[in-house]
Amino acid sequence: MRKLREDMQSRRRVFSSVMRLFLRWFRLCPRRGRSRTARKLRELWSYSRLLLRSLYFNSLTNSDVITDSLFEPIFWVVDHLTRWFGLVFVCLVVVLTSSILCIAYLCILPMVIHTYSPAWIMWHICYGHWNLVMIVFHYYKATKTSPGCPPQMKRDIPAVSVCKRCIVPKPARTHHCGICNTCILKMDHHCPWLNNCVGHFNHRYFFCFCLSMTLGCIYCSISGRNMFIDAYNAIEHFKSLDVEKQGVPVTGAGLLMRILPLGSMTGQSYYQTPQPPFTFKERMFHKSIIYMWVLTSTVALALGGLTVWHAVLISRGETSIERLINSKEIRRMKKRGKVFRNPFNHGKLNNWKVFFGVEKRSHWLTRVLLPSGHAPCGDGLTWDLSPQRKIIMAI
Ligand SMILES: [Zn+2]
Ligand SMILES: [Zn+2]
Repeated sequence: MRKLREDMQSRRRVFSSVMRLFLRWFRLCPRRGRSRTARKLRELWSYSRLLLRSLYFNSLTNSDVITDSLFEPIFWVVDHLTRWFGLVFVCLVVVLTSSILCIAYLCILPMVIHTYSPAWIMWHICYGHWNLVMIVFHYYKATKTSPGCPPQMKRDIPAVSVCKRCIVPKPARTHHCGICNTCILKMDHHCPWLNNCVGHFNHRYFFCFCLSMTLGCIYCSISGRNMFIDAYNAIEHFKSLDVEKQGVPVTGAGLLMRILPLGSMTGQSYYQTPQPPFTFKERMFHKSIIYMWVLTSTVALALGGLTVWHAVLISRGETSIERLINSKEIRRMKKRGKVFRNPFNHGKLNNWKVFFGVEKRSHWLTRVLLPSGHAPCGDGLTWDLSPQRKIIMAI
């Protein structure tokens, strides 16, 4: 009896163990799958959150960083378009300048020679050609001269920060150009009209090109002003004649007047028919003068504004990028009751001397008024700071 009970108990234990195992297997199999999916989902979620946070996490995050991040896709598109269309812009400058040059030689110069006194003719020829040489030389040098990059191999350069894109030490006044995809020494801006960055080694060429092009446009605009007024009046007169011609009534006689030569209607011979007021050559001449005057006046205004702005920046010892940074710094310091001083400002005249590389008086003629290929002051890595402030800033 006792043995039977023990036997029953052991069987029940075995059965219950088997059942428990079966149930556990039955329950665990789907749970393992579910838990794996849930774990994967949880990992994916936390990874996405980490990615999202890493995009905007910065101990120095402010509204500018967020705005930059938001506009990053637009900057990317603009950078790529500027890079792709760089050559198109350069070709446009060459074609437009050449067209103005052709008109100046074919239309304005003959007028000057036939109208002005020998002294004025000499002045026009000398000034016009000096201006032309300055434009061509500085444009060529500005496009072909490298603005300067920090040395890639040297690690012991005096740096104020590290470029996040190039991962190289960044000297003072150096900035990364997204279009050139490299760091540029004393970067001013990327100029699409040059298809090049404006930096330490070609800043002077860029400014001299802007100045000489503005002067050239003002010269063409002033020299061709009277010719423009005459050409405009002539074109308007021609248009009014055209309207009068088109205004002939469409009657039998009117149609006949259009079909038959005018002489046959009035009893004149064919050879006595009045000539049209302007020949094709004259019309082209007038249109060329109008085109030249409108283009040079527009460029003189637009480029003149840009040149004046750059002249103001050079007088302050700043680049375009530094102007933005410094104006923020001025506001920040003002809130603290302090005055910001630009460490690279040596005073107006000295800034111009440093910019043009003027070391003695004769350099104003040989290095400023005449085309000169001399290198700028300094290597673009280290800077002479103004005595007002010797603490170098990470700008
Ligand atoms: Zn860089
Ligand atoms: Zn660039």
